[in-house]
Order: sequence, then structure tokens, then C-alpha cells
Amino acid sequence: MSESASKDSPEQAEFRQYCRTWLAANRPPDPQVRLPLSPLEIMTTEQLSYLQAWQKAAYDAGLVGCDYPREVGGGGRKDCQRVANEEMLSARTPYFPNVIGLGMAAPTVFYHAQEALKQRLLPRLFSGEDIWCQGFSEPGAGSDLASVQTFAERKGDKWVINGHKVWTSLAHFAEWMILLLRTDKSHKYDGLTYFVVPIRAALGSGVTVRPLIKITGETGFNEVIFDNLEVDDSYRLDELGKGWQVAMTTLLHERGAGELQTPRAGGLRNKGGHVTSASSLIEFARTAERDGRAAAEDPLLRDRMMQQLIREVGWTQSQRRSRVPALLDHPMRLQLQNKLLGSEISQDTAALALEVAGASASLYLGDENAPAGGQWHLAYMNSYGMTIAAGTSEVQRNILGERVLGLAKSK
Ligand SMILES: Cc1cc2nc3c(=O)[nH]c(=O)nc-3n(C[C@H](O)[C@H](O)[C@H](O)COP(=O)(O)OP(=O)(O)OC[C@H]3O[C@@H](n4cnc5c(N)ncnc54)[C@H](O)[C@@H]3O)c2cc1C
Repeated sequence: MSESASKDSPEQAEFRQYCRTWLAANRPPDPQVRLPLSPLEIMTTEQLSYLQAWQKAAYDAGLVGCDYPREVGGGGRKDCQRVANEEMLSARTPYFPNVIGLGMAAPTVFYHAQEALKQRLLPRLFSGEDIWCQGFSEPGAGSDLASVQTFAERKGDKWVINGHKVWTSLAHFAEWMILLLRTDKSHKYDGLTYFVVPIRAALGSGVTVRPLIKITGETGFNEVIFDNLEVDDSYRLDELGKGWQVAMTTLLHERGAGELQTPRAGGLRNKGGHVTSASSLIEFARTAERDGRAAAEDPLLRDRMMQQLIREVGWTQSQRRSRVPALLDHPMRLQLQNKLLGSEISQDTAALALEVAGASASLYLGDENAPAGGQWHLAYMNSYGMTIAAGTSEVQRNILGERVLGLAKSK
């Protein structure tokens, strides 16, 4: 029995057994198409359809939205999403495509929307039938998010939106967007208001989505242009001018905090077969050749792989600590630390994999001679995005230093 299972409440123990039985019978078949490393790089309708079918099946079986109330399409359970996530991870199921919906939009809508809107939006969000995206960043507002300039002007019961969002992951498939807008130019923070917007319905008539190509050749994120898009006031979350507070709910969940307090839906961090883990690296080193023998036999590489493994185990333990209420002296400390370290450890593991591969590390996806099918090459390039998305490493360090440790503010 795993350590988590031994601490289960009776409800969790029964649910864990149910998840195991269901997953043993219903794990989806391997996809016919190559899946990207994470849902943020889904590019084709074939990839999306396969992953959407999986999310819908898991939702129908009660493995998604477990802890949300039944009235909004949830399972009405208590602290069971974690159990479902653990079981899906050990069954090595694919990830869910609606990662922004589950991780960020769902808790934000749940805490800040009117009841009728919650009941309308959340069931299709949990099932993955409606994909969601996040319209926060702009060309002039990233780390300094409160500088958002995309403007909503009030016209009776409607709002007219104009502006430019960027790096909007999954916007090319999204039905809905969570959107941070400026409604008052004279106040920085209090001039922001938060909306949910049906962007797919407005494509070509007020909304344009333009894919951006990454260094990997993948798209995944986009520019989104709003040109006189009209939305109803009923799509506003919380009060006028309270957008910054609502955005904090989103960001808290984006960075992994709030898990204890919040009914959190699924959304596995299972990166398409765990390619970026230290144990995958060790398996890879057993097959990669270096100086006429397996790279895993090189004493210097062995040392460095062990160091990566030790860091990764430490990070996993730190994630477990974030579930211990007595250790949550500051609501963001462990979550920010875990985001910062997790993204940097993955990056270092991928960089070491390229050293293990040696000269053939330059071969990429689609080259039959590429080691491990070019997945490590892809993981290395994508790892840089992960130290930027959801707040850059520099900004996480600033927040940890200033707000958690109480150090002097950086200039
Ligand atoms: C893979 C990926 C997916 C993303 N998906 C989305 C999405 O779906 N929706 C969305 O809204 N956004 C998304 N983003 C955008 C992301 O949130 C921003 O890129 C991030 O917040 C940084 O903002 P920026 O790119 O404008 O960089 P800037 O804020 O311009 O920063 C540039 C550099 O300056 C540094 N810097 C800035 N301020 C400070 C400071 N005070 N102290 C020290 N250093 C500082 C930064 O660390 C960085 O190195 C995504 C980004 C990536 C990489």
C-alpha cells in the first residue's frame, strides 16, 4: 500500500479502490498520433480528439471535478481529486487537454461567478467538451500583469472589448477564455475587471486568433486580437474594478497553491510518458552509447544523473509537504518553491540527457536516427517555456524573497 493510501479516510479508501478498478478496465488505447509533451502544445484536431475523449470518459466515471458540488457538475466528494490524480498517474494515463480550464478557470468561476453561470459552464469544462484558455498576458504586460491595457468600454448591458493578448495557450481550440481587462484607465489595480468570454463563437467577428510558432516548431500558443467584440455584462466575474482580486484566485491555482482549500479538478502533470524525469534519463543512458560503451557506465555521468535523481526525489517530498496544513505558514511558500524548482530540475535533466546523447543530440523528431525519437531534444527546448509560464523564475525568486522571507524589495 502506498504511503498516501495508508492515510486515506474511509471515503478516500473506497474511492481509491473504485478508481483502480475503473482504470484497470478503461485505460485508453495508445493514440494513433504522437502526443506532445504537455497539453500546452496540442496542435492538431487528431491529438485533441483523442485527449478530449479520454477526459470525457474520466469525467463520466467521476474522476474529474470530484470535489466540486454536484449542483455545478462535480462529484460532491471530499478531498478525493487528489486520490483520482494519484491513481491516474500510477496507471500512466494520458494527460487531460483542458488543463487551463481545470487548473485555473474552474476554481475562478466557482468562487466568483453567479450561480447560473457556474451551472452552465462547469460541467462542459470538467468533461473537456469546452476547452478554455487564459487571456492575461499582453505585449506590454507579462510579469507586470497589472499593466494590462486591453480595454472594455461599457455600453448599456454590454461591454465592447478592444486590444491584444499574447502567449494565449490553446486559444486555437478554446470555446471560452478567462480574460483580465482594463475598465478604468485612471487606476492601475482597481481599474481591472475580470470576464469569461465565448471566443470561439466570435471568431471572425470581433476575435482573431493567430498561432505563434515556437523554437520547437510547435504552435500551442497564440496572439488573440479583440476588435470591437461585444459581450454581455452577465459574463463579468465579481464586481467592477475587482479584476485584480479575481486574477489572484487564478494565479494562486496556476502556481499550485490553494489545493487544500479548493475543490480542484483533475489535470495530470503526466508529461506524455514522463520523458523528463530522472529515472527516464537513467533508462535512456543505458541505451545511449558513449565512447564505445553504454553512457550509464560513465562514472562522471552516473554521478550527475544521481544528483538529478536526488534533486527530483527532494522536490517530490517537498510537494508532499505542501499538503501538510501545519507547514503552510505562508500560503504561497511551498507552492512557489515547487514551481520554481520543478521547472528548473526538468530543464537540467533534459540538458543532461543531451550530453548523454552526445553529438546525436542534434537530431530531432522525425529523424529515424534521433535518440529516443528526439523527445529529449524537444523536452530541452520546451523546458525553457516552463521557467517562464505562470511567472518567470526571476519573479518567483523575488516573491519568495520579498513576501515570504521578508527581504528588502529589489530595485
Ligand atoms: C509556454 C508558455 C505558455 C504561456 N501561456 C500563457 C497563457 O495561456 N496565457 C497568458 O496570459 N500568458 C501565457 N504565457 C505568458 C507568461 O505568463 C509570460 O510570458 C510571463 O508572465 C512573463 O511575461 P513576459 O513574457 O511579458 O516577460 P517580461 O515580463 O517582459 O520579462 C522579461 C524578462 O525580465 C525579467 N523580469 C521582469 N520583471 C522582473 C523583476 N521585477 N525582477 C527581475 N526580473 C524581472 C523576467 O524574469 C524575464 O526574464 C505563457 C508563456 C509561456 C512561456
